[in-house]
Amino acid sequence: MPSYQGHLIGGVFVFSVIATVPYTAKFLGHPDLVTSFSLLAACLLGSLFPDIDIQSKGRNVFYYVLVGLGAIALSQQLFGLTIFFTLLGIVPVFIQHRGLTHNPLFVIGIPFIAAKIITPIIPKIASLQMHYYIFFVAGALSHIILDFMPYKLFGVTIKPKQKRWTKKGVARRN
Ligand SMILES: [Zn+2]
Repeated sequence: MPSYQGHLIGGVFVFSVIATVPYTAKFLGHPDLVTSFSLLAACLLGSLFPDIDIQSKGRNVFYYVLVGLGAIALSQQLFGLTIFFTLLGIVPVFIQHRGLTHNPLFVIGIPFIAAKIITPIIPKIASLQMHYYIFFVAGALSHIILDFMPYKLFGVTIKPKQKRWTKKGVARRN
C-alpha cells in the first residue's frame, strides 16, 4: 500500500479529474478560490480517511488537514461543515474492527450519515455540503483502490510489498 504521500497524490489526481472532466466540472460550477481549496482539502482528507483506525503518519496528517478545514469552515461561518468535520474526527473512537475503514460502503456511508445529521441543522448549505461529500468520498475511494492495487503490473513493481496484517491481526499501514 502506498505511503500517505502516495495517497495525497492520488487525492490530488482524483480532484483534478473531477474538476476538469466537463460533466463533473459543470456540477462543480465556478467556486471561488477559498471553496476550491477547501474542496481539494476535502478530497485529500478523504484520501487519508481509511487509515484513521491505526497509528500512522497518514492519520496525523488527516487530523492536521481536518483542523485546518474546520478552522476555514468556522471562519466562513459554515457551522454545519464544522460539525461535519468534528463528526469525522471522532469516528475512530467508535471503530473497533480494524480494516472496516477500507470498506467502500463504510467510506460512502459514514460521511453520508454525518451529512444527514447536520443537514436538518443548517439546510441552507446542503448543496455545498454535497460537493464536499462527493470530493471526500472520491478521495477515500482512491485510497482504497490504491491500497488494493496489485503490487506488480505487467511484471513491474509499482509499490513496495508490505504486510497488511501481522500475526496479531493488527494492520500495518503507512
Ligand atoms: Zn490504507
